[in-house]
Amino acid sequence: MNPHEIDLHKELKKYFGFNQFKGLQEQVVKSIITGNNTFVIMPTGGGKSLCYQLPALVLDGTAIVVSPLIALMKNQVDAIRSLSSETGIAHVLNSSLNKTEVNQVKKDITSGVTKLLYVAPESLTKEEYLQFLNEVKISFVAIDEAHCISEWGHDFRPEYRNLRNIVRQLGDVPVIGLTATATPKVQEDILKNLDMPNANTFKASFNRPNLYYEVRTKTKNIESDIIRFIKQHKGKSGVIYCLSRKKVEEIAQVLQVNGISAVPYHAGLDAKTRAKHQDMFLMEDVEVVVATIAFGMGIDKPDVRFVIHHDIPKSLESYYQETGRAGRDGGEGHCLAYYSYKDIEKLEKFLSGKPVAEQEIGFALLQEVVAYAETSMSRRKFLLHYFGEEFDDVDGEGADMDDNVRNPKSKVEAQDQVVTLLKVVRDTKQLFKSKEVIFALVGKINAIIKAQRIDTQSYFGSGSKYDEKYWMALIRQVLVDGLLTKDIETYGVLKLSEKGEAFIKKPTSFMMSEDHEYNEEEDDAIVT
Ligand code: ADP
Repeated sequence: MNPHEIDLHKELKKYFGFNQFKGLQEQVVKSIITGNNTFVIMPTGGGKSLCYQLPALVLDGTAIVVSPLIALMKNQVDAIRSLSSETGIAHVLNSSLNKTEVNQVKKDITSGVTKLLYVAPESLTKEEYLQFLNEVKISFVAIDEAHCISEWGHDFRPEYRNLRNIVRQLGDVPVIGLTATATPKVQEDILKNLDMPNANTFKASFNRPNLYYEVRTKTKNIESDIIRFIKQHKGKSGVIYCLSRKKVEEIAQVLQVNGISAVPYHAGLDAKTRAKHQDMFLMEDVEVVVATIAFGMGIDKPDVRFVIHHDIPKSLESYYQETGRAGRDGGEGHCLAYYSYKDIEKLEKFLSGKPVAEQEIGFALLQEVVAYAETSMSRRKFLLHYFGEEFDDVDGEGADMDDNVRNPKSKVEAQDQVVTLLKVVRDTKQLFKSKEVIFALVGKINAIIKAQRIDTQSYFGSGSKYDEKYWMALIRQVLVDGLLTKDIETYGVLKLSEKGEAFIKKPTSFMMSEDHEYNEEEDDAIVT
């Protein structure tokens, strides 16, 4: 059928029973059925699956869906099968199938019954499968969890790197990438690695207006603070994330002793106990799950009212994913993170044994976590900026839903300092990351400053009235405001934007939030 003649609403109703498309789905579906490379970025729960499932069902041939998790593939296949009387409509092709099963899959594909074929990336490299797929009609290849292709994503999988080559062997079929990870760096990596620079890109907003974001300084009183918080939320469901299994057990016990119904959840517990604790939480037999990041994948409890991070996570992507489990029903969702720079140092230590490239990425991601925790500006604006999204922190949806906005720190005029900063970035030829820009401002020397003879320039030390912490805070705010940008390629070199150039020529008021001062007390150690 001519793709332009397909009545998409009719097909949507027929297969899925929905009356309307959600968000950008209709545009995405149209892009796919008209044969375009397509890139879809939507937060979890945004309805990504339908974006490729509906085109697969209406187009000729079989769509290949690459997915990293066997358990998720099975769920998807069952879901599709339930939409049709034909079990062969969707299949999984992987190493767990015996010969007879593989033959059945091949038969269903050849006869045109199978519309969706789910494969793990490693299965797709198998010569035998490739040869077969080469001989049948493929409608398109959808790559789910496409961020796995990027080392900057939170779940890098080397086997994803091969996908483009494999897809090429299948002939000239459209490629669809889908992900819920939205940082500009990861997006760029995906488009590059899939070799589809001109793909139609659809990005949904990552704003979750009903979530309230709060960061508290982590002190030795953290446990009583958490208990008080939970008692204020009596009868409501919540998750507490800790980095280590030991801490999970400890906190769960402390809560129990204090009359809060809580269970631990981590990968060190046997499968039966894990399943039991998860069910208890879903059935509301307990109020709180204290967990490592092992908890949450695919958990769909709509009324989680708070997500507490006892320990700050290693990236803002993780933070966004984990807090995203709160308030799925659109109701209250309080996201509280405890922050101590000592925890950052511990996370840095974990990185120290890793390969250099991985370390560098890990450090850069951690720096963003620090910046988020320490900022005095709208946390929502900060998070969304991190995901490449502009947010209006005055009129935007959910604008007043964070601690910094509700209890604003005082603001000071920083127009002159912004000009000084921007000029240093310009005059150092936009070659430096924050560290060297700050050194040039305060007049501090290191090997790079020396080698580039920055210390002989007139602007060297032009900002020495303020300290390094001040400049770091200002850079963060100027970045979020878009006067400077961070180069994606090098992840960190500061570049002057057009807006920044205009600011130098015609400076306007720039009100800077004064950053938090942290008076941390000794915290109990995290033991992994
Ligand atoms: P994602 O993969 O982006 O996390 P899913 O594809 O799992 O999201 O979809 C999330 C939920 O939204 C599912 O329960 C799905 O049935 C529902 N959904 C998707 N599209 C629609 C629609 N057009 N109308 C109503 N519900 C939808």
